[in-house]
Amino acid sequence: MRHDHPEGCDTPTDGPREPTGPGGPPATGGVSDPGRLSGTDDPAFPGRAGRAAVSLDVLDAEVARCRACPRLVAWREQVGREGRPAYAGWEYWARPVPGYGPDDAALLVVGLAPAAHGGNRTGRMFTGDRSGDVLYAALHRLGLASQAEATHRGDGLRLTGVRVTAPVHCAPPANRPTPGERDTCRPWLARELELLRPTVRALVVLGAFGWQAVFPALAAGGWVVPRPRPRFAHGARARLPARDGGPDLEVFGCYHVSQRNTFTGVLTPDMLTDVLGDAARAAGLPLAP
Ligand code: SF4
Repeated sequence: MRHDHPEGCDTPTDGPREPTGPGGPPATGGVSDPGRLSGTDDPAFPGRAGRAAVSLDVLDAEVARCRACPRLVAWREQVGREGRPAYAGWEYWARPVPGYGPDDAALLVVGLAPAAHGGNRTGRMFTGDRSGDVLYAALHRLGLASQAEATHRGDGLRLTGVRVTAPVHCAPPANRPTPGERDTCRPWLARELELLRPTVRALVVLGAFGWQAVFPALAAGGWVVPRPRPRFAHGARARLPARDGGPDLEVFGCYHVSQRNTFTGVLTPDMLTDVLGDAARAAGLPLAP
């Protein structure tokens, strides 16, 4: 049985229909020239743009304009044009979905990729699909999210001490990015990790795909990755020392919050909350009683 799927396998939720698309584009903090090369026409993108991002705001804005993977660009935009009946009237985001959460997060949750009618519709990670419902409900239970629901970017959700992201920022056809697309997207995650280095102390990786993708990014971000690499399992735990002698990072494995896992009981809310709680404690975050 596979336990590894993008955000939510695209089952509609009962979120509001917002004809103009809620929330608007991300702040452009520091991205001054929208006509600049952004992928297919610049072989150094996204590596160069990632390294040049001086803050997570800048990085998020750069991610949102990336077009480095032709297949994923075509798919995310096709899904956005065609939509689905349950979301009639939505203006899909149809762009890369940046990470979400504070720039001083102590805990980072890493998924796989946005869902075609979830994050690719709403423009925010794990927002607008069942997998997000499960994830944010668990974070809310722990006191790390202001609410259990995540329906659109203007829904008021705030995360405390935790940020969510993915190794692939565009929705993939059939919910499967290729290894080449995963590798192309890696500089974004590597830079995100690097920018979080001062505060991040624990990582929860949802699913085997994310687990495979995250270790090269961690190596690029400044941590020493053990050899052989730790194997993925639900409840797996590995401690990575920092290359510069800084604080260690604890990496936790967890089954993905896909519908296939949550609907079948492979991953229950208690299992998810347990892993997130252990990771939050390792990160030094105060939890709800
Ligand atoms: S998957 Fe990543 S590298 Fe590829 S187009 Fe999307 S944001 Fe860019």
